[in-house]
Amino acid sequence: MQVAEQRAVAGTSYLFISHDLAVVGYLADRIAVMYRGAILEEGPAAAVLHGPSHPYTATLVDAATRAPVGSGAPFEALPAPPSAAGCRFAGRCERRIDGLCDQVEPPVRTPGPHHEVRCHLDIAELPVWRPERASGPGRPTRSPLDPPSTLGFARAGGPPSPGGGMTPPAADTHEFTELLGGFAEPAAAPAIQRRWVTVVTGGGHVSGVFWHTGTPGTVLLHDTGLSARSFDAVLRAYGRPAVAVDLPGHGRSAWRRSGDYRPRRLAKSLEETVLSYAPGGPVVAGRGLGALAGIALAARFPAAVGRLVLIDTLPGSVARGPEERWPWPSPAFGSRAAAAAWLHSTGSGLTEDEAAQHAALETVQTADGRWVWRHHLAELDGSSLDGFHDDTLWTQLAAVRAPVLIRAGNGALAEALVDRFRTESQDGEVVELPGAGHRVEHDGPDALAELLGRIADRR
Ligand code: SF4
Repeated sequence: MQVAEQRAVAGTSYLFISHDLAVVGYLADRIAVMYRGAILEEGPAAAVLHGPSHPYTATLVDAATRAPVGSGAPFEALPAPPSAAGCRFAGRCERRIDGLCDQVEPPVRTPGPHHEVRCHLDIAELPVWRPERASGPGRPTRSPLDPPSTLGFARAGGPPSPGGGMTPPAADTHEFTELLGGFAEPAAAPAIQRRWVTVVTGGGHVSGVFWHTGTPGTVLLHDTGLSARSFDAVLRAYGRPAVAVDLPGHGRSAWRRSGDYRPRRLAKSLEETVLSYAPGGPVVAGRGLGALAGIALAARFPAAVGRLVLIDTLPGSVARGPEERWPWPSPAFGSRAAAAAWLHSTGSGLTEDEAAQHAALETVQTADGRWVWRHHLAELDGSSLDGFHDDTLWTQLAAVRAPVLIRAGNGALAEALVDRFRTESQDGEVVELPGAGHRVEHDGPDALAELLGRIADRR
């Protein structure tokens, strides 16, 4: 190619503008990716193409490897950004965080030297692609600038899980580095992988953390203000394929413009999520909001749930959890440490260490450098919790086959509520967990894992 020769022979610099990624990858030392007149990513060519990349770059690379040239498919008009403020790609981005991406200019992330990405996602959450490990005998190693065959997302440890989808072909440790460091034998650490599924109902994406390879037989749903990561210790002890889900509006899942996270409003999104993540009727276990949403899910979509497990939660009990005592809405903070200190001081019931760990998992930095909670409820007033007290959930629970109630010895359930469960629930079973407090996944992760295993075995 003459341009390449001229560059090599005469040392000429070019500003080369193209939509053809293969040519750009071949020619360029540095790539700037533009969308709607703004540079969303800039950096060394290999770094931009391999990631961690901006979601728009990932879309371009993915399209370049899949779209047949000259297929005759009509071009679609690009949707406009939802607002003049915020990320220009927000109108098309499947990873969009509603209420943040469409309102606030994304910060500049620096995933590597001289490499910048404008996105609200943490570097650990940005898409990654790695060339196939094809360097065995008789198989030449791919050029790092060959058009990639697939895009994946952050995963850590163990072999790739079957089923393809958003699974990357090679291991990258980002979000789970510290978690995996806690295993005495890193080589024996389980595969831990974060994935996303786009759901039709409620819009946006729902994220899940998968432990071990294979189809998950258990799905875990967390309480308000928490995320899938609150079940790390349980899933570490559980030792089987399972997935913990970030409920809509929490963790790495999308926020809803409506701010409506009532259990009945989560059911359809969760049905889509469970059928995608864990087809085959898994055990669905939840605490707090996760348990109430599980009731609505199992009642409306019984085919999605093999067995419903309520962890120290019944309709009418939710507002007793420590997280509900936070003075919402929450302020923004100058640092994660400040968020932890605030949490510790607000009657959350968490020790200083627990508050620091919580802030490390559940806060994210905004464009102006402040730290905010990942969950949408922190920006809504406390009345958003009123809808969680939905008496129709008792009627729905009565329609669920053989639910199991795990009652923590020092938990949140009044005797009258447990009696009502025994009276009204079809084949319901109460299992006592002595010594545990309401935050069972924190107070008794090993015992909870063992109980879930027994329930899964007789599902
Ligand atoms: S996640 Fe948000 S900030 Fe990042 S590209 Fe998508 S819409 Fe833009």
